[in-house]
Amino acid sequence: MRPNRFYNLARFGPVRVGTHHDGRGRTKHTAVCTAPGCDFSADYFTRASAELAARTHRCKA
Ligand SMILES: [Zn+2]
Repeated sequence: MRPNRFYNLARFGPVRVGTHHDGRGRTKHTAVCTAPGCDFSADYFTRASAELAARTHRCKA
């Protein structure tokens, strides 16, 4: 299931960072690697954390 209201999408190499609401009034920040064969995906409480993770992600693909 994917969130349907991503905004503030940004791209860091193969990794995309998006912000969305989790349906319970909270904001989450998700980093997802779009490279084929790489299944990196994680949620963060702050935008800075998500962007840092995206920037430092080491793609295994
Ligand atoms: Zn990757």
